[in-house]
Amino acid sequence: MSKTDSIYKSLPPAIQNIAVSIYGIYWHWLRFGGNYVSFENQYAQREKLTQREWNDYQRNQFKVLCLSALRTTYYKRTWSSNEVKAAENFDLSALPLLDKNPIRSNPTDFVRTDVNPFPKLKFYTSGSTGTPLTTIWTISELRDSLAVRQTRSAKWAGVSYSLPRATFSGRMVEPDPDSKGPYYRFNAVERQVYFSAFHLKPETASSYIEALKKHKIEWMTGYANSFYILAKFVLDQKIIVPPIKAIITTSEKLTAEMRSVIQQAFNCRVFEEYSTVENALFASECEQGRLHISPDVGIVEILRPDGSPCEPGEVGEVVTTCLMRTYQPFIRYRLGDLACWDPDPCPCGRQMPVIKEVVGRIEDVVVGPDGRQMVRFHGIFTGQPHIREGQIIQESLSQITVKIVPEKGFDQSDIIEITKRVNQRLGERVKVSVDVVDSIPRTRSGKFKAVISKLSN
Ligand SMILES: [Zn+2]
Repeated sequence: MSKTDSIYKSLPPAIQNIAVSIYGIYWHWLRFGGNYVSFENQYAQREKLTQREWNDYQRNQFKVLCLSALRTTYYKRTWSSNEVKAAENFDLSALPLLDKNPIRSNPTDFVRTDVNPFPKLKFYTSGSTGTPLTTIWTISELRDSLAVRQTRSAKWAGVSYSLPRATFSGRMVEPDPDSKGPYYRFNAVERQVYFSAFHLKPETASSYIEALKKHKIEWMTGYANSFYILAKFVLDQKIIVPPIKAIITTSEKLTAEMRSVIQQAFNCRVFEEYSTVENALFASECEQGRLHISPDVGIVEILRPDGSPCEPGEVGEVVTTCLMRTYQPFIRYRLGDLACWDPDPCPCGRQMPVIKEVVGRIEDVVVGPDGRQMVRFHGIFTGQPHIREGQIIQESLSQITVKIVPEKGFDQSDIIEITKRVNQRLGERVKVSVDVVDSIPRTRSGKFKAVISKLSN
């Protein structure tokens, strides 16, 4: 825990609200000051580009990015002269893929050595697979990243960052795990309710909804799974919710079932946003419900294991070259996500590539004893009314543990059904143990993991 965190923890909630608001003034300036508005205008303008114009745009921006890259220790050291030439010719496929490990072990090797911006901002990925990865940003890059969210996510969903909103994120807003509430803090500057993702229980649900009413919240954004859990409590307990214009989910995969439950509970449309802490790519859902990549944030490739590009509809690994952040360039960066392109253009008319589905994380793949690999394995929980939360842990090739937080009515027949579903997918040889638990622990940043694999690569 940092020193600031421990001071925050020692304050009473009312003073924590003031602290959050004072921090909010600084944070607001940091993000929406300076050249923020011009970024917003540029994003709105570029939305009208044709595919050809997008290609030209990416080629030009890639030139800028490569000049930056060649001023960093890492690319200077690792790129051969042929690779430098390939970069100059915008021949991405001839450049090496970038794993997370070199960044993790030495993030400053990736920053430009010829400039020294102030302040430098650091953001950390959650590090679900190991040590968090440090990304280093300039203030202008932060504003840029907010502008794309306002223009291509909030605006497409019919809302705005200037309207009161509530957020579920990894922030530890309520440090006491056994707190009797409130389970949120209020930033008066941005009229933003920060919800705790760590205190959602049947008995706390109504107080989350009370906060929405009290602060006249108009839209919500954040962890998909937190909204899903809250939505289930709302429906179960028939809690009356105030009118909400839209919910934009982030960070975790939004399944069709989650979307439908959240829409039903909050009586508003749910939009999915696909991005990462590194801001290596950005995709958001348009009014037609399709997930568009923003080509000005990153050049996205979806690749087969042999490195060739996937056909539309074919699931492959997401690799991205981040055009927005040039101070710490990530070129052909392996995100660890699996996705596929949509073969059909979107009727909204925007000529920005459409992702059909973000299937999951590479580390979420479950492997059968015969070597078959499966993503979306948590589909075994679909249509199971007595399961509130479920998690699959692959202990070994022949052993699966399923953790279940039960709903009322859960009994032996549900355990038999879950076991049967696992065996249907992986074969009868696999031993399944079902553990009924009170809760499923979140990652340090509050995220829910549907699948955990203990297999080594
Ligand atoms: Zn569209």
